[in-house]
Amino acid sequence: MPNFDSHIRVGMFFYPIVLGVYLFILHLLNMGYPDEKVIAFGFFLFVLSSDMPDIDHNHSFLHKFIRLLVISFVIYFEFTKKIIISFFDLNVGLYLRFLIAFLTGLFFGILFEIIIPKHRGPLHTFWAALIYGGIMFSGAYYLGFKAENSAFLGIISTIGYLVHIIMDISFVEKNGKLIKR
Ligand SMILES: [Zn+2]
Repeated sequence: MPNFDSHIRVGMFFYPIVLGVYLFILHLLNMGYPDEKVIAFGFFLFVLSSDMPDIDHNHSFLHKFIRLLVISFVIYFEFTKKIIISFFDLNVGLYLRFLIAFLTGLFFGILFEIIIPKHRGPLHTFWAALIYGGIMFSGAYYLGFKAENSAFLGIISTIGYLVHIIMDISFVEKNGKLIKR
């Protein structure tokens, strides 16, 4: 069970290799390459994905970071789009509106803790990797990315996620060193 640092390090090391193989296969199949910006952004997404399964670990850095992202996103969304405010037809000032958005954000933070399954449960499986990649692909496509760019982002997310699971299965961490099981 390697830690955050090991997963990130391995993710960083593997991205150039995965990218090389991916481009080589596209070349053989005579298919179009993803855009430069997408390849560059892919580094971040791949490394992030290679620690993503540990979102199910309550004390992991990633878990806390993603929870913060969820809370911030909900606050931003409610404060700027006024979903709850309009639903209840509330007529309140700017500051009170922010407080309502803030409380909504905290509520989703608690919801996040409830929804995430137990550590090394369903999120540490091959199927979770496929679903995760599928979500990344659809998300990118929905945001307006071209098919070859969305496919690239979906596939590298899946591979990054799988690298994590394979590392968890194959190694244990002792005193900061990876040892084969
Ligand atoms: Zn793990």
